[in-house]
Amino acid sequence: MSWYTKAIEEKKPHRKTLWVHCKKCKSHIWGEEWEKNLNVCPNCNYHDTITSWQRIELLFDKGSFHELFENISPVDSLNFTDLKGSYKDKIQANKKKSGISESVITGHGKIKGFNVATAIMDFRFLGGSLGSGTGEKILQAANFAYDYGLPYIVFSASGGARMQEGVLSLMQMAKTCAGVARLNKKNIPFISVLLNPTTGGVTASYAMMGDLNISEPGAVIGFAGRRVIEQTIGEKLPDDFQTAEYLLEHGFIDSIVQRKDMRDYLANVLSYYNR
Ligand SMILES: [Zn+2]
Repeated sequence: MSWYTKAIEEKKPHRKTLWVHCKKCKSHIWGEEWEKNLNVCPNCNYHDTITSWQRIELLFDKGSFHELFENISPVDSLNFTDLKGSYKDKIQANKKKSGISESVITGHGKIKGFNVATAIMDFRFLGGSLGSGTGEKILQAANFAYDYGLPYIVFSASGGARMQEGVLSLMQMAKTCAGVARLNKKNIPFISVLLNPTTGGVTASYAMMGDLNISEPGAVIGFAGRRVIEQTIGEKLPDDFQTAEYLLEHGFIDSIVQRKDMRDYLANVLSYYNR
C-alpha cells in the first residue's frame, strides 16, 4: 500500500453498523453494498454525504492530489460563546470528530490527466459553514488557479455563513466572489459543483458563480429555508422546491450529474479547456 493510499484509508470514516438506513426511502441496505455504490442508495438513488477525502479518492487520479493551505484553521476573533458552550471548544470537537481542520480541503490534482485546482467542502465540520478560514482557503486556492492557469473546481456542501464569526463570516462571501471572479481575466474556467445541501451565504456567493454550475441528484440548494419563505409569502411551496431538479428545470443550474459519472463528466468538460 502506497503512502498516499494509506493516508486516504486512514482518513476514511469507520462505518459503525452492518446495515445502512436510507434517509429517503427508509430501506435497509447492506453496508458493504452501500459503500460500493459510493454512499448512493441502490433503491431510490438518494445521494448521501461523503467526506472530502472520499470525494478526492473518487475523482482524482491516484497519487495526483496535493493538499494546499492545510494549516489554515478557524479563528475565534469574537471570543464567541453561546448556551451550548464556547466556539473554541466546538472547533476542537469538530477537528477531532472529522480529522480535518476547516470545513474545506483545498489542493490541486489531476482528473483523468487534466490538472485542476480545487476546494472541497466537508459538511461534517461545523455543517460545512463558511468561516474566515473556509473563505481564506477558497480564496487562496482561487489565487493558486489564477497563478498557474488551472481550471478551478469548487464542491460546496454548506449550511451557510458561520454564525459564531458574525460579520467576519459574511465578509467571506465578498472575498471568495472576488477570488473566483478574477479568474475571468485569464479566461480560466470556474466549475461549481453543488452538493447536498448548499444553502445560505454559500449559495448567495461563490457557489452560484460558476461558468458551469452542476449538482448531484436530489441536492437541496437554496438561500433561506422553506419554512421561512412560506411564512413570509403566506403560500405553500412546491414539494420539489429548492432541489437540484427544480433548479435545473428553472434554469438556475446547468446539469445534474450522478456521483458515479462525476469524474468522467468533469474530465469531458475539462477537455474543452486544453492547456
Ligand atoms: Zn433509498
